[in-house]
Amino acid sequence: MAVAFVDDVRQIKEENPFESMMSRFDHAAQLLQLDPDLYKVLRVPNREITIYIPVFMDDGRIEVFTGYRVQHNFARGPAKGGIRYAPDVTLDEVRALAAWMTWKCAVVNIPFGGAKGGVICDPSQMSQSELERLTRRYTAELIDFIGPERDVPAPDMNTSEQTMAWIMDTYSMHARHTVTAVVTGKPIDLSGSQGRREATGRGLLFVTDEAVKKLGMKAENTRVVIQGSGNVGGTAARLMHETGYKIVAVSDIHGGIYNSKGLNIPDLMNYLAKHKTLEKYQDAEPVSNHELLELDCEVLLPAATENQITSHNAHKIKCRILAEGANGPTTAAADDILESNGVFVIPDILANAGGVTCSYFEWVQDRMGYFWKEDMVNERLKDIMVASFHDVVKYAENHSVNNRIAAYMLAIDRVAYVTRVRGIYA
Ligand code: GLU
Repeated sequence: MAVAFVDDVRQIKEENPFESMMSRFDHAAQLLQLDPDLYKVLRVPNREITIYIPVFMDDGRIEVFTGYRVQHNFARGPAKGGIRYAPDVTLDEVRALAAWMTWKCAVVNIPFGGAKGGVICDPSQMSQSELERLTRRYTAELIDFIGPERDVPAPDMNTSEQTMAWIMDTYSMHARHTVTAVVTGKPIDLSGSQGRREATGRGLLFVTDEAVKKLGMKAENTRVVIQGSGNVGGTAARLMHETGYKIVAVSDIHGGIYNSKGLNIPDLMNYLAKHKTLEKYQDAEPVSNHELLELDCEVLLPAATENQITSHNAHKIKCRILAEGANGPTTAAADDILESNGVFVIPDILANAGGVTCSYFEWVQDRMGYFWKEDMVNERLKDIMVASFHDVVKYAENHSVNNRIAAYMLAIDRVAYVTRVRGIYA
């Protein structure tokens, strides 16, 4: 019993995203010999806001939801980061995700700090009108804290272009004029950017291409396993299939499907759109989301949620390249196991940074009032993703650390530098 209890505690700690983030941060800060005063400042968020959100439900009752916005850092520019709606949102999770946004924006060198929002709710059980009222009240409560120069939200799990349109409208009603740059990931006709919807998946393709080239592999001979088929996993699957990769497994929240000869992705996506599940899809065998991670493949792309690769299954992971589409899919304890097994990791704060990079383009376009063609967006996205990939890999080689710690070191160094130059108003 006692042993089981210790194991449970260890697992809870391992799977706390804030612990996952902090253990990498501490390791990187130590290697950088970060000044102790700067360390104290950078290890905590700038501000954490908790909001209790009353919402009229469709049956006339009022329900009170809990929401958060954590603004982790503003040193390099306005805070930036998505908002997620999910029943299991916690403050620690939002805290970790906010910090990851700071490091992510610094890795790709765009002029933002980091933030994240979350509301504890089950969107699958709510009507569109309930979600609209929730979003508007959450936005109204945050009115003094967000804005194009302050903090710019975006979509994340279970929030969409529609959610961003409601936030933009609510903020604009209070400001008494239309403020498009208060959020990114808006519908294109509402001052959104071409290419934003696909940007995270496209960014994953760009960095995976670089890793494949670096390891002397070829797309045609590369089997890819993708966990998740939402905006990130689904887009990555489509674009990688078009590029010539062989996608052998894909999953949704219920489970996955596998075909060693490769899946017909356009057909599968049509099936998913029609049936809302991959179950009973022909020409493939069913696998669970856990089995899927352990399949034989060259590229594993977790694009679902946190804590998928842990100390319990890391030794069973067979891929050569791990491209992290989700935020925090790998725990800190799993990092060492993957490293000793020679897995080439493209860490989340680099791999999935295509989304926020295109958000940066959207914010720039909104402030200019001048919109770019999709080709230009994709070309600029590619430039940033490819350059950032090589920055991280070179840093790792020069400092004899793994790619993840290199990405953290590069990011922390950039944030620490501007903090030092600006000075701490203490
Ligand atoms: N939610 C996305 C992320 O985790 C995008 C954030 C943004 O575009 O600001 O990177």
